[in-house]
Amino acid sequence: MKIGIVGCGQLARMMALAGLPRGLEFTFLAGPTEDPAPVTGLGPIYRMSEGESGESIYQGMGQPDVVTTEREQVEVALLKSLQPFAPVHPAPEAVSVCQHRAREKQFINDQGIATAPWKPIDTDTDLVALGKELGWPLFIKSCEDGYDGYNQWRMMGPDDAVPQIPADVACIAEGGVAFERELSLVAARGRDGKVVCYPLTENHHRNGILLHSLAPAPALEDGLQDKAEAMAKSLLDAFNYVGVLTLELFLVDGEFKINELAPRVHNSGHWTQSGALTCQFENHVRAIAGLPLGPTDAPWPSAMVNLLGVEPPSPTIRPEGKLHWYNKTVRPGRKVGHINLTDQDATVVKRQVEELVAVLYP
Ligand code: AMP
Repeated sequence: MKIGIVGCGQLARMMALAGLPRGLEFTFLAGPTEDPAPVTGLGPIYRMSEGESGESIYQGMGQPDVVTTEREQVEVALLKSLQPFAPVHPAPEAVSVCQHRAREKQFINDQGIATAPWKPIDTDTDLVALGKELGWPLFIKSCEDGYDGYNQWRMMGPDDAVPQIPADVACIAEGGVAFERELSLVAARGRDGKVVCYPLTENHHRNGILLHSLAPAPALEDGLQDKAEAMAKSLLDAFNYVGVLTLELFLVDGEFKINELAPRVHNSGHWTQSGALTCQFENHVRAIAGLPLGPTDAPWPSAMVNLLGVEPPSPTIRPEGKLHWYNKTVRPGRKVGHINLTDQDATVVKRQVEELVAVLYP
């Protein structure tokens, strides 16, 4: 079974590292200017040219049995062009919904699931009136190409300056949610429709970028895991989805609102490499390959700390941590690796995270 992955970044790398020991083969599609260093040595890399046909790409990739994408911001037309030759999971239609904030929020709301209150806006929209209606602070987010706080503007209140949003950028506005915690749920659905979910993860961001995660999310009220899993199942079924889907969640007054969906393995699920019986990468490749999904139990507390623009720390700093390095060149703020920590005692894991973060980002 040969799996073709669109993209050559760390997520492609970790899918291959999880699938190769199971006898799966991998082939990677690099964009015209993409650096394939993270996947070098893990399988053939085919560099596509601008405007190349689906058939030519499929042949260039060595006729994979199934195709997946490691990234959300992939051209849907490219995924569709490969469909006549091999199944593409997740389906391009699901990726397309997740790429566009308005389509995504509408889809979530259509399943009866809450998001922050939101509305599409244009250059004529009275943002002060809308802030009153949806709630301050008002978050203005571009529908496309927005992630990690990029292409996003905030108005803290009615007296705040109205942001100058480029006229050609379609946006939504969202009311601020006074969340207690940011959590995520990584779920996988097999070709047979079976769904498995990992324990909820607690996520901590700095400047809009994930810095560290704790899993299972500590001190959760009873019933929250079941509620999150029910949301995941209804979304996965509605998409007829195959593979891993991640729900980014706000926890407000004991209820969830979905912030966004990621149609792929997710940074907040990296802890599963050390902390779960089957990691998210293996379950994604199992799902798309039509193999039975593996157990998602997390026997011990775990954490993940991102390496953002830093060199790999000396092994003496956190010797019990498992370093995952992506073979990327270090640039300021760039995700170049992560460290997973696991211990029988959640307070030990939390302390290790705090110490590591203090050393990495003094
Ligand atoms: P996003 O790009 O939508 O993931 O947003 C980046 C971060 O901004 C989130 O992780 C939250 O911390 C914060 N944020 C986004 N939308 C809202 C909202 N409606 N209310 C409160 N915080 C938000």
